[in-house]
Amino acid sequence: MPARIHEPDDATIAAAAARLAEGGLVALPTETVYGLGADARSDAAAAGIYAAKGRPAGNPLIVHVAAGAPPTAWVRSWTPQAARLADAFWPGPLTLVLAASEHASTTVRAGGDTVALRCPDHPVAQRLLAAFGSGIAAPSANRSGSISPTTAAAVATELAGAPGELMVIDGGPCPVGIESTIVDVSGPAPRLLRPGTITAEDVAACLGTPLEAAGAGSPAHPGSAPRHYAPGTPLVLAAPDELASAVAGAHATREPFVVLARAWPAGVPSTGGTLLELPGTLPELARDIYRLLREADGAGAARIVCELPEGSGIGMALRDRLTRAATPAG
Ligand code: AMP
Ligand code: MG
Repeated sequence: MPARIHEPDDATIAAAAARLAEGGLVALPTETVYGLGADARSDAAAAGIYAAKGRPAGNPLIVHVAAGAPPTAWVRSWTPQAARLADAFWPGPLTLVLAASEHASTTVRAGGDTVALRCPDHPVAQRLLAAFGSGIAAPSANRSGSISPTTAAAVATELAGAPGELMVIDGGPCPVGIESTIVDVSGPAPRLLRPGTITAEDVAACLGTPLEAAGAGSPAHPGSAPRHYAPGTPLVLAAPDELASAVAGAHATREPFVVLARAWPAGVPSTGGTLLELPGTLPELARDIYRLLREADGAGAARIVCELPEGSGIGMALRDRLTRAATPAG
């Protein structure tokens, strides 16, 4: 049965909260990407997320919480570092990993003893959280490994094969556009598990201590898989000074190709190629990158050539996503 897109009116929010309370799934907008939500206290409800996404078991889910009071029920201790980061960045695209209480279902935690918490900065997500009255476990609303959806229509395409009729709440295009920064504050030193638009430098400045990079001892998570966020069409990445030769290489194959770049490289013939223009600033690029990758993937081309952004901060987060998207399958 197909996914069905609903306007975010009060009747939709009430129906979505009721569906969550029954153990069902609801796709909801957040400022980062669309999430596939379920009652975070329920093993059975969370199991539905893994089934619908084809997500490997053992990869835990982020629990979304309402704005306002600290989410103390979900953790063994709401630590000073967590309080400081939440004060600075919530609601917003920062996920905190903490020692878990029994409140989060074992399935949400993938059997581990930590829980990932985030307070989303999106009015529709917050209305649903308030109506539901508890935490909503929600990974990105795509099939496991593929491109995260940043529109309701992209969710409907991704999860068309989900069992039952999936309720998708339309909150418009996601303004941040890539997944949240994840910081593990459960141990002695804070660790960056996934870069995002709130940068490691922002987090370190707030805490007054540098972040450790996620290393060998980190829990496995799908965002850390070498191939992730990937289109079906082969993707070739090029730094700005390598773009001309990468596009010339694609042209030489005589097969149709798409170029994702700020501009067509000077002096390179464009026969067989289509330019999808990338915006100039890093926040705009984060907002648009998954939509443009999806559009490029749907163009029926033999390959996609994408210009890599430079710089630290959001540039690093974007290179992380694009590098994983370009990793060949298998
Ligand atoms: P997604 O929302 O699809 O981007 O997936 C959520 C991300 O958060 C995945 O990479 C998870 O593995 C990660 N995550 C969720 N819970 C935890 C946890 N307890 N410890 C570490 N990472 C987590
Ligand atoms: Mg995901």
